[in-house]
Amino acid sequence: MEMAAGARLTIDLRALRANWRMLAEKSAPARTAGVVKANGYGLGLENVVPALHAEGCRDFFVALASEGVEARRLAPDARIFVLNGYFAGSASLYADAGLIPVIGSRTGIEAWHHERGDETAPFALHVDTGMNRIGMTPREAIAYANEMRSGGVPRPCLVLTHIACGDSPESPRNGQQRESFQTVRTAFEGVESSLANSAGIFLGPDFHCDLTRPGIAIYGGQAVNGLANPMRPVVTLEARICAIRHVTAGAAVSYGATHVLGRDTKIATCAVGYADGYPRSVSGSGVALRDAVAQGACGFAAGRRVPLIGRVTMDLVMFDITDCEAGALQEGDFIELFGPNIPIDEVARSAGTIGYELLTGLSRRYHRLIVKD
Ligand SMILES: *Cc1c(COP(=O)(O)O)cnc(C)c1O
Repeated sequence: MEMAAGARLTIDLRALRANWRMLAEKSAPARTAGVVKANGYGLGLENVVPALHAEGCRDFFVALASEGVEARRLAPDARIFVLNGYFAGSASLYADAGLIPVIGSRTGIEAWHHERGDETAPFALHVDTGMNRIGMTPREAIAYANEMRSGGVPRPCLVLTHIACGDSPESPRNGQQRESFQTVRTAFEGVESSLANSAGIFLGPDFHCDLTRPGIAIYGGQAVNGLANPMRPVVTLEARICAIRHVTAGAAVSYGATHVLGRDTKIATCAVGYADGYPRSVSGSGVALRDAVAQGACGFAAGRRVPLIGRVTMDLVMFDITDCEAGALQEGDFIELFGPNIPIDEVARSAGTIGYELLTGLSRRYHRLIVKD
């Protein structure tokens, strides 16, 4: 399979572990969890969970119970939180795998305990301090806490909130959300609390509370806009060259003939396309986004950047390798699409999206190489 694959995806678990360790050191004395939703941001729970566990991570966040069941197999002694909460009728799934739902409403908490037949079944409480996505309002949460203190309602094992603008450190909303959450924490005195995602860790100790919840930074992605990314790249995608051709100036490349060659050009056609999660919107020309974001994506080959030309197709993409040294690239060689030389966030910008979406959209067609110690 390896020799026949159109592309290889290298996942460096040493870099992943180093990234988590760096985030844990930055978070201390708060504990640090690992957010592994969406199959470990596309990298495979079976790769990510054991690596983080070996580094000392004992708190994991997934989005769905099915992901939690798989994570449980890989981390028998960890706490596993299910961020999307709990759907009626699935209590036994949570009970069997020892999953902790993150619940954001009083009715949700009641249903959870009713279905479990156990008022002590653990749950985390989601408080919405500004996303308007999921969770109790701070006012509802404080009312709940008041009742809890008089023994009227069950105590959560964790209260958490999520910040909307952590990637923009200058946003006043970060401080507003922190202050709003502080009133909630005070009401829930004695209950563990959690506020920071990856970006929140970089906002400083005021945002760390008891438990931090990094995701993207573990996987090498950029958490904070406008700063150099301090994380080590974890994922490298390389596409195989399946054809090299010389095309004369004036000819056009790919669907729609949107890229007309300005010079005689050596073109490398690679076996990756939008069906592999390499988005059509990174095309060098012929997509609406090229008016807004000037640059299409680049690859990296033979020691230099090579521009993507024309539209990305379903299974193939073309790069201009004219400026590479003669003979440096052969059919069967690889061109890096992102990795140490081309940051994934740069490709994401060309596509009008974020690294998160590229990672979670990586296809199953790649040959996956896992680098362990
Ligand atoms: C996804 C998610 C995280 C992790 O966010 P990153 O930006 O990837 O660090 C943390 N908390 C919640 C509630 C999330 O949904």
